[in-house]
Amino acid sequence: MKFITQQYSIPDVPMQPFIDPEEIINILRNTSPDKAYIKDVIDKSLAKNRLSLQETAVLVNTTDPELVEMIKQGARTLKETVYGNRIVLFAPLYIGNKCKNNCTYCGFRASNKDAVRKTLNDAEIVKEIEALEDNGQKRLILVFGEHDQYDPEFIAHCAKLSYSVKKGNGEIRRVNINAAPLEIDGFRIVKEAGIGTFQIFQETYHPEAYKSYHLRGKKADFNYRLTSLDRAQEAGLDDVGIGALFGLYDWRYEVLALVRHTNHLEACYNVGPHTISFPRIKDASMLKMGNQHLVNDADFAKMIAILRLAVPYTGMILTAREPKIIRDECINYGVSQIDGGTKLELGSYSNSQNTEQDLNKGQFRINDDRSLNEVIDELLDKNMLPSFCTACYRLGRTGEHFMEFSVPGFIKRFCSPNAILTLAEYLHDYAPEKTAQKGWEVIESNINVLPDENVKTKLRERLLELKNGKRDLYF
Ligand code: SAM
Ligand code: SF4
Repeated sequence: MKFITQQYSIPDVPMQPFIDPEEIINILRNTSPDKAYIKDVIDKSLAKNRLSLQETAVLVNTTDPELVEMIKQGARTLKETVYGNRIVLFAPLYIGNKCKNNCTYCGFRASNKDAVRKTLNDAEIVKEIEALEDNGQKRLILVFGEHDQYDPEFIAHCAKLSYSVKKGNGEIRRVNINAAPLEIDGFRIVKEAGIGTFQIFQETYHPEAYKSYHLRGKKADFNYRLTSLDRAQEAGLDDVGIGALFGLYDWRYEVLALVRHTNHLEACYNVGPHTISFPRIKDASMLKMGNQHLVNDADFAKMIAILRLAVPYTGMILTAREPKIIRDECINYGVSQIDGGTKLELGSYSNSQNTEQDLNKGQFRINDDRSLNEVIDELLDKNMLPSFCTACYRLGRTGEHFMEFSVPGFIKRFCSPNAILTLAEYLHDYAPEKTAQKGWEVIESNINVLPDENVKTKLRERLLELKNGKRDLYF
């Protein structure tokens, strides 16, 4: 697929900054929505095209409740027709919270003397991974503060260690990373360790606002962070995740900037981001933040629907920062990945006595503390298909979201059968009886709607192999 590139005030050059705040603000100011235009924009997205900044601004500026509902319905339709009912599950694993930066919104910031600092050692990482595997997790994101100790070799070591831990039928099959930006050589080192996605959130794409939250440390350099995923691409790491921390600046601006970042990567590397994240600021130890730009629930839901339509081919991640009620609603607008059984305190997966959140030990407060099984059980109640699939990554089919989106029939041939196989593994190995019963029913109804008899037959054969003790089967 060839991306349609647009001309912006700052031309797209690899490893060069590309954000012009005036341009984004002007687009927002000069775009007014009317019903016919909004409908055209939604139709363009449903025809599987990424939206331009102007078209995204039309959606962002829509406030009439009837038209907002039209946008949300557009996102629901896109999700249903393109992606279906799968939700990929993962868990974050905090490796170390030492940090030299001082981001005002973060509990790990250097000046927060109340934060209890810790870096897991190898034995502790192994214990955490065993506990995660015992719950049925297969996909992790390792999270790090920014500190000299967390250099590329250390990150690569943690990734390799994670892959090496096997307990019972448990294993970690995909390790993503959320850590500070690296140099090109550093990205090469972590890529060689077999990582999946490298996520770096710009936090805010507004340079002045950015400055006010990042007064010192390496993170104070806006452009160094902005171009970090270009460096990942230069290193051959083409699986990258972008994001903005909502609440730092006007959400409307951030949405357009995320689209701008997307088309910068498309223009320079012919590949967009693998995932987009849109965390909202949550309570943190000694949090000192104004509330001028906090995003309310209604705008947040609308924003997710707009992002789904604006960049229809990416994965979208919604974490346990958000309460269950918000997650339940927003999944319908096209979220493709959620975490389950999440714990942020270092070492807390293996220390199950720790149930209360201690803000001084975690980065921020999570608002959905359901166990992985509770999340799965409730997804099954909604006839959704929880998935731990890692097949594309394992087979070298990178950019799986893009393939799901652009290759006709890909989902029905690969994604749905693989989701079913990974759910079946979970049901055999980890689910309580009640969840297992529901799960097998959902699996049966999902097999029945697969269009290709050949795929159905092969899938049933593999399900039988799983029943007989084989594991890790995929298409
Ligand atoms: N230290 C690395 C960095 O800053 O890029 C790794 C990321 S940090 C551990 C993960 C992300 O959490 C940050 O990029 C930020 O967007 C988000 N975050 C920080 N403080 C938060 C808060 N109070 N509420 C919600 N998300 C927060
Ligand atoms: Fe450190 Fe990252 Fe927190 Fe900033 S967001 S203080 S860099 S851990």
